[in-house]
Amino acid sequence: MTDVLIAGSGPTGLALACELALRGIAVRILERRSGPHRESRGKGLDASSLEAFARLGVAERLCAIGNPGVILRKYFDGAHINDTPAGSNGLLIGQWQVEEVLRERLAGLGVPIEYGAGVVGITQDAGGVTARLADGRSVRAGYAAGCDGGHSSIRELLGIPFEGRTEEKVSMVLGDVTAPGLSRDHWHQWFTSDGGGILLCPIPGTDIFQLQAPPEADERGEPLPPSLESFQRLFDRHARMPGIRLADPTWLSSWQINVRMAARMREGRVFLAGDAAHVHPIAGGLGMNTGIQDAAALARTLAAAVTGPAPEGVLDVYEAERLPVAAEVLADTSRRMERVMAAVREPGRGTEAGMS
Ligand SMILES: Cc1cc2nc3c(=O)[nH]c(=O)nc-3n(C[C@H](O)[C@H](O)[C@H](O)COP(=O)(O)OP(=O)(O)OC[C@H]3O[C@@H](n4cnc5c(N)ncnc54)[C@H](O)[C@@H]3O)c2cc1C
Repeated sequence: MTDVLIAGSGPTGLALACELALRGIAVRILERRSGPHRESRGKGLDASSLEAFARLGVAERLCAIGNPGVILRKYFDGAHINDTPAGSNGLLIGQWQVEEVLRERLAGLGVPIEYGAGVVGITQDAGGVTARLADGRSVRAGYAAGCDGGHSSIRELLGIPFEGRTEEKVSMVLGDVTAPGLSRDHWHQWFTSDGGGILLCPIPGTDIFQLQAPPEADERGEPLPPSLESFQRLFDRHARMPGIRLADPTWLSSWQINVRMAARMREGRVFLAGDAAHVHPIAGGLGMNTGIQDAAALARTLAAAVTGPAPEGVLDVYEAERLPVAAEVLADTSRRMERVMAAVREPGRGTEAGMS
């Protein structure tokens, strides 16, 4: 029988699956999507994630792909002001690249990702958990982990409140684009005295830049959806580099500020980890990293429970350790976001203001 069933193959679910498989625990990982994505999303691994990944035997591979010393190039009203370090001792790397390396590690451990396997129902009894999949199949396991992202079905199925706030307005459009002619040696950060700006970050080992910008607004002040045309207008307005044409969009997205956490991280034999348990501003780049730390902590709890004899109360250890961390990350990233928003009004400052 499967010891642990994991819903979701983002960084949290993949890290948890590796942690468990390396301990010899029988794990299955179910993913709703039909295959892997290639979106840059969370693009920074911090020192604690690299430490966890060294244990999993993937740090070297990730370091060979990523960039440990990204330099921010700051411009104000179109003029180049300065170049400064990013302010962290982590690794710049696209999220899909992290996921790919973890998937390869899992494949080496004999654990495939089961695509097209969205969990739509979950029940539990004294002996284990049964997950119902969208295609009607059932999967039985001793324990389950909902690593299924901010819109977690597992959290909703368990009836666990996701407490906090969501800002109604889209605060950022995002995407992966190419920008032939633009130097790939820097994370370009253009800000303007009207409060606007645009960021283009080179994703290592690719010709892609991750673009981030406050959205354009229509005549009623409503944000326009992300599109290549809108990205180009934002670039022309803030970067003022005629001749650079953005192209080849492989990811278009928009982002609203959410500051929310689950009221509980466990219901019986089912646990929540990563964005399923907490979502917060991106300043400081803590989202994926917090999920990876959740995965390490949850693996310790599950390993103790599965391999036993488990001490009394072992299942409570994970939530006791991680719920206070989630609360602190929500407060911390909100403060970091405020610091960044204030800093970028000063020439020569940028996202480094959120890194400490
Ligand atoms: C622009 C941007 C920049 C960011 N920068 C950083 C950064 O620098 N550092 C950082 O740490 N974080 C960063 N983040 C945040 C980071 O992307 C997320 O925190 C991270 O993806 C969370 O990982 P996760 O595995 O918990 O969830 P997800 O990555 O959301 O993965 C959840 C998975 O579960 C699957 N799923 C959903 N429902 C089901 C279901 N019912 N059954 C089965 N599978 C299901 C989904 O398809 C998905 O694959 C950034 C995010 C953005 C948008």
